[in-house]
Amino acid sequence: MDDRKETIYIKIYDHLTKQMIMKSMAELMKEMIAAQMPISFEMEALKAQAIMVRTFLVRKIKVFGGNGCGKYNNVDLCTDGHCGQWISKALLQDLWGSDFYINWNKLDQAVRETEDKIITINNKPIEPKFHATCGGATENSENVEGNKILYLRKVLCDYCRNSPYWKQSVEMTLEEIEEKLNVRMSDVSPTGGPWIEGMIENICRDEAGRIVELKIGGKTFQGTEVMKLLGLDSTRFGWKPIAFKFETGGKGHGLGLCQYGANAMALEGKDAEEILNYYFTGIQVKQFEKRSINKPLSGKIIVLDPGHGGNNSEDNVGPMGTREKDINLAISLKLAELLREAGAEVYETRTEDVYVPLSKRAAIANSVRPNFFLSIHQNAFANPNISGSEIYHYRGDRDGEALGTLILKELSNRLGTAERGVKIADFYLLREARTTVLQIEVAFITNPEEEMKLRDRKFQEDAAEAIARALVKYYTYE
Ligand SMILES: [Zn+2]
Ligand SMILES: [Zn+2]
Ligand SMILES: [Zn+2]
Repeated sequence: MDDRKETIYIKIYDHLTKQMIMKSMAELMKEMIAAQMPISFEMEALKAQAIMVRTFLVRKIKVFGGNGCGKYNNVDLCTDGHCGQWISKALLQDLWGSDFYINWNKLDQAVRETEDKIITINNKPIEPKFHATCGGATENSENVEGNKILYLRKVLCDYCRNSPYWKQSVEMTLEEIEEKLNVRMSDVSPTGGPWIEGMIENICRDEAGRIVELKIGGKTFQGTEVMKLLGLDSTRFGWKPIAFKFETGGKGHGLGLCQYGANAMALEGKDAEEILNYYFTGIQVKQFEKRSINKPLSGKIIVLDPGHGGNNSEDNVGPMGTREKDINLAISLKLAELLREAGAEVYETRTEDVYVPLSKRAAIANSVRPNFFLSIHQNAFANPNISGSEIYHYRGDRDGEALGTLILKELSNRLGTAERGVKIADFYLLREARTTVLQIEVAFITNPEEEMKLRDRKFQEDAAEAIARALVKYYTYE
């Protein structure tokens, strides 16, 4: 099998063994396609599914700037169903028996022939929704999820008319319905009986409760006729419905691609991209940038500037005596490591507890000409209740505002700090450095709770990771 091209490894948490496993993206893709679409489907339909699976992974996994699983720490995906469905290769071997190699080859072909292709809109991967059968038309996203997503528009589809899910019905007794919905519907006296419009109506009884006349299925009958024709013992009769047949059209939420429709389109000779363009509105299928995989920041120059340092006492101090300069340095050192791993060229205004005047820091910025100059600080305020993260940029600096917004969001997601905003300031470095400078105030060292957190090594690393993640996001799919 040709796994050479997609040798990206994905970190997966196996909830059964409680262990971390690494799996190649190509293998995981095959396992996901197998779980999501019948293997008997046409190759172009399987290829459309492959492109959707790859799009899902590119959105999700961390090397591409995704947020990962979110339920389990520090992994891309988990196996407990929270991160989508797949069937392991070993299980597929059991399931398919002697057909395994034929089927696995089909999956391999679907992955290989769509190499690197993902579905994008404005150069960003979409959320590739799909369902088994739409039953006549797909849905607008706002009708299902409440919010309007531009690429999830209603399209007519009768391609899926031969799907086993096109029209289906289930029968349920009244008792079942009553139990499931927790209602009472059948409280009708045995010799009463409800007026069921179009079925049993215009009921006329005498004073003794005997049916004189009624209309059944649009035709009027005498009570005596019905008694005779149906073989009832008396004209004093009632009725109650005992079951309902519910009829459904389609299967699934109806958003995005209709799989049975996709298969029928493939049978008609449409290719995977035509199929995807039919079901997703305004999208582009294109190759995602491999460059951004391992070294998403290659070619970027970043200066890190841990605020303060040395023996003067210009930095903020927490109620427990924690010094801002030390926290700034710890976060900055970790951040430098992460940014270098991501391929960036990193300069630091200090890497130890020394005093560096602001003029020298600005001079470093101006000689290196970085893409970004990030000053790391901790905030302070007289009122110890004030807490949260905030970021400053120079007036009119759009790049600063854009990256600052991403960093603030990542910090607050990762650290649980309040978002106090991305603000404009006229600080010396923001003004004097001829590049985009951000002053990042991670948290309030004067807030006892945040001071405790800031002293924690894990928290410092999380802060660095959040800032690094924001930079990767800034340069990926931009
Ligand atoms: Zn998960
Ligand atoms: Zn359909
Ligand atoms: Zn400071």
